[in-house]
Amino acid sequence: MAYIKKSPWIIHYDGSSCNGCDIEVLACLMPKYDIERFGAVNMGNPKHADIFLITGQINSQNREVVKTIYDQIGDPKVVVAIGACAIGGGVFRDCYNTLGGVDKVIPVDLYVPGCAAKPEAIIDGVVQAVGLLEEKKKRGVVTHKEGTGDETRKLPPVPDLNLEQE
Ligand code: SF4
Repeated sequence: MAYIKKSPWIIHYDGSSCNGCDIEVLACLMPKYDIERFGAVNMGNPKHADIFLITGQINSQNREVVKTIYDQIGDPKVVVAIGACAIGGGVFRDCYNTLGGVDKVIPVDLYVPGCAAKPEAIIDGVVQAVGLLEEKKKRGVVTHKEGTGDETRKLPPVPDLNLEQE
């Protein structure tokens, strides 16, 4: 990892999932895997965060929450989708209310595969995210500026849940 001026602060959100990947992310924050050795501190406020770690799939309930968290993180920011559910819906992909992976609602920079994703892979994703964050800083990437793309990303439609009664 190249020299960085500021510790990368992270925020973690778990969409709809079995919580397996969620628990692996928490394991990374504990002393055994100790992600804090890279200066990555878990924050509760998106406005303080640089890296958005997200597990679980997107559904009609959480799509606006995910979009709101993303919008509240200041620029530059990096989004890391962790696990098969966050990547493409995983085992929930055919559920009646599932819209798919995280990139259905926000741009994703890095994908960490696995079901569940291993702590080593998650740490690798965070280290890569730190490098990408520095690159975005140098390039002055601004995601909220009008006309640059992200503001045109529309939320996917909510599925019609008024299923016909038999
Ligand atoms: S990818 Fe697998 S372990 Fe992770 S949340 Fe989905 S079902 Fe659970």
